Amino acid sequence: MSRPLVFAAVWFAFLGLPHSACAADAAPGKPLLGEWGFDLAGADLNSSPGKDFFRYANGTWLDKTEIPPDKPSYSLRLAMSDLTEQRLHEIMEQSVSPSTPAASTLERQVGGFYSSFMDAAAIERLGTAPIAQALKELRQATSRDALAALMGRNQTDFISTLFNYNIDVDLKDTQRYSFYLSQAGLGLPDRDYYLKPSFAPQKAAYQHYISTLLRLLNWPQAGQRASEVVAFETRLAQASWSKAQQRDMVATYNPMTVDQLQAYAPGFNWKGMLGQAGMAKLQRVVIAEKSAFPQLVAIYRQTPIATIQAWHAFHIADNAAPYLPAAFVDAHFELHGKSLSGQQQQALRWKRAITAVSGGDFAAGERFGTFGTLGFGVGELYTARYFPPEVKTQIEAMVVNLKAAYRLRIENLDWMSAPTKREALQKLDTYTIKVGYPDRPRDYSALRIDPHDLVGNVRRSAAADWAFYSGRYAGPVDRSDWIMTPQTNDAYNGSLRDIVFPAGILQAPIFDPHADAAINYGAAGGVIGHELTHGFDDEGRTIDASGALRDWWTAADADAFKARAAKLGAEYAQFEPYPGAKVNPDLTMGENIADLGGVTLALDAYRASLHGQPAPVLDGFSGDQRVFLGWAQAWRGKAREDYIRNQVVSDPHAPRQYRGSTPERNIDAWYEAFHVQAGDPLYLAPEQRARIW
Ligand SMILES: [Zn+2]
Repeated sequence: MSRPLVFAAVWFAFLGLPHSACAADAAPGKPLLGEWGFDLAGADLNSSPGKDFFRYANGTWLDKTEIPPDKPSYSLRLAMSDLTEQRLHEIMEQSVSPSTPAASTLERQVGGFYSSFMDAAAIERLGTAPIAQALKELRQATSRDALAALMGRNQTDFISTLFNYNIDVDLKDTQRYSFYLSQAGLGLPDRDYYLKPSFAPQKAAYQHYISTLLRLLNWPQAGQRASEVVAFETRLAQASWSKAQQRDMVATYNPMTVDQLQAYAPGFNWKGMLGQAGMAKLQRVVIAEKSAFPQLVAIYRQTPIATIQAWHAFHIADNAAPYLPAAFVDAHFELHGKSLSGQQQQALRWKRAITAVSGGDFAAGERFGTFGTLGFGVGELYTARYFPPEVKTQIEAMVVNLKAAYRLRIENLDWMSAPTKREALQKLDTYTIKVGYPDRPRDYSALRIDPHDLVGNVRRSAAADWAFYSGRYAGPVDRSDWIMTPQTNDAYNGSLRDIVFPAGILQAPIFDPHADAAINYGAAGGVIGHELTHGFDDEGRTIDASGALRDWWTAADADAFKARAAKLGAEYAQFEPYPGAKVNPDLTMGENIADLGGVTLALDAYRASLHGQPAPVLDGFSGDQRVFLGWAQAWRGKAREDYIRNQVVSDPHAPRQYRGSTPERNIDAWYEAFHVQAGDPLYLAPEQRARIW
């Protein structure tokens, strides 16, 4: 699908399944975890909270839990995804069952797509025939201009591109859409993988993978071409901006006409590319990593045609591999699953089928699972069965309390001036909160799904998505839009000044309608506060109340904010989960600020929800303690080393052990709640604590 702008999502990456703790086992009316929503048996209450709060809240679980071999990580979050996956499995199996005669058109489409993925024998029989036409067109494109034009099919086919494109709300004129272009072309997760010696094994595995796929395609000189492709991408990586640089909202907003782009980055067939994207009449674009554009084009000009064709052939095969015969699927897993994530076993076919039809994790960054799916259609079937309306009501009430807490915090800030506060409060008021699923369902009725044509289904679904986004380019902005599907286990703060909580994240341990309120505030409230404060983090604060990119801060306020953020950054800069794998405080800054804001507001909102009554004490735990435990439990989980090494360079979210225990160190109430004192390893003196909101 098209990837419009998300300012910030709450989780990262891979979904997967645990082998225990199935949420479906909870008795009706009882919380899923423990007696009041916190799994005490998974904590390590004999350890010291001031020494390692993550361990205190999660230690026994961490000791006892092994990461399943088909997963790069394992966590309570994955238990949520597990339950969702089981439910989607049920929906898909039922929709193909002949005993379900009254299936709707949508159910038949979902069922047909699912069947086409499950028919492994047919997939083997077809071999590479489903991508033969794409490869033929590639062989016929013998000039750089012709090859650049093919890149315009990136949203509708398996072809790769040097420049990603998408359509989203214009950042300076929020009444209209803009066409955005950004750097692309790398097959590994980040430029660091090409440039840093510590990633040499992954880079070697990548080259091996390229030659494997080219051989499977019978591409001439596969070994030689693979080394050329890696050299080409290494040059692209050198010219690319880092992920931390890409977070600069001002530097990445560069509007220009198509003619200006042609003059600024000459020698690339921009018009041909736009024409193939169905945007031949486009006048204006916004480019992101401005200084990289002419450099990427220059590298492209200097690279032999044969190398570029091999690069394209490899990426077609890489993007299509999950839908092709086992030789492709296995090679794809060796690289993307094993070498890049440390996953040991491939997920079963039915699980991969669900990802293909329903869409995978939004933030995983892998094309499989975000491209060519029926995601919103599946979401409609899912929420109709599994999202109770009362959850929507309860979450909406929490949102009101969180917003009130934030308002009060802003009003009382001692470091922000009155004019900046005025704008901040105005912005806070304009946020719309979306819960569960979109008000308007996506119309898939014109989409043809063929149970015997998997690759065609993927292509046609991608084309339908792109037609949806490109078709409304000239029209008014659709404020009801959703980026994530309802079944997504994540939340986001988007370019419509909307904060969106899909049904998929509103499950235990994030939210359990039967859990104690303090636990729900610590987890769901923390997530809501996290998303709210994203509107005011290092990126979000550059957007004003109308949603436009504009600096509304006084210089003194901006300096005060940055100094406070830097204090928080210094805490995260200390974290080094594996030798040489350090948390990057700049890359993770926005998420760290949002986590601190989230826990701060969750605690305020919980206290306010008591309306002056004392918080109940449960199993000896005070209300404040339970808010902090609810937050820490939400992050309960562990990941493999390769996954974490990938995460610290490519993901704006810090590893979960830090997310679950660092915001607390900056909140005075946590010290009181758990009697943390000077000398404890987690202790920060009051003047060292980062206080932002
Ligand atoms: Zn976030």
